Amino acid sequence: MRVYLKERRTETPDVISFTFDLRGQPFAYKPGQYVYYELDELAFPDERGKRRHFSLSSSPTEEGQVMFTTKMRGSGFKETLRHAPIGYELTMETPRGSFVVPEGDARRHVFIAGGIGITPYRSILRHAADSGAPVDAFLFYFNRSASDIAFRAELEQWAAQMPAFRLVHVLSGPEAGWSGEIGRLDEALLRKYLPDLAGSLFWISGPPPMVKTYMELLAQIGVPEDSLRRDSFTGY
Ligand SMILES: Cc1cc2nc3c(=O)[nH]c(=O)nc-3n(C[C@H](O)[C@H](O)[C@H](O)COP(=O)(O)OP(=O)(O)OC[C@H]3O[C@@H](n4cnc5c(N)ncnc54)[C@H](O)[C@@H]3O)c2cc1C
Repeated sequence: MRVYLKERRTETPDVISFTFDLRGQPFAYKPGQYVYYELDELAFPDERGKRRHFSLSSSPTEEGQVMFTTKMRGSGFKETLRHAPIGYELTMETPRGSFVVPEGDARRHVFIAGGIGITPYRSILRHAADSGAPVDAFLFYFNRSASDIAFRAELEQWAAQMPAFRLVHVLSGPEAGWSGEIGRLDEALLRKYLPDLAGSLFWISGPPPMVKTYMELLAQIGVPEDSLRRDSFTGY
């Protein structure tokens, strides 16, 4: 399907959201899925070529458009999009992936995001906020510093709006003006907010080294394999 660049929004100093207009074409997807995008031409060289996959950071409730959000690191693919004019056309493939909240699942969800790994949760939470069927969820959102927190205002608004959704920001280290959590994910941090970990479904999304570390930690503290979901963003 052809889609058309509608908006570029700077989320943090190195994270940009790209929104594409569907121009009335139907496109069904579930919050948490990802898609492949293919450029017609690269404006900057890229040894990995013209195709990349990204989670949809938009929700299906944001009709008529889709969005992905990415960390800019200089690749030709991303620089082409950074410099493209509004209306720029590219191809988007069908949605894929099973990082999707099962319908009717009554379990508490423990969402764990490392940096750019926030993207599928933004979709899931925006969908919950819009549809009026909020998920029972904690989001532990890890970032290096406060300036790296993408979607901060929206997430805080949804936490205020949905009593069953609780947001825990965690920064890598102390910084001026920060009174929230600092450090890495460990059992003490989880238990501070969730004294009873049993019966929850744990979700991890982010760069592969972080996903691996957190999977191992959750296994060590006794979270069973069938209560773990992961979205590993290969390429980071
Ligand atoms: C399910 C899924 C969802 C994703 N969602 C997002 C998202 O929402 N936002 C986001 O920013 N990124 C997401 N990614 C990662 C994304 O596809 C890109 O790989 C990433 O953004 C890096 O792209 P780049 O152009 O900056 O770097 P690149 O120039 O593409 O890559 C940097 C380096 O990593 C290596 N590399 C890249 N990809 C792979 C790979 N697949 N396997 C092995 N080596 C690789 C390259 O060879 C290069 O050395 C997702 C990945 C997956 C699998």
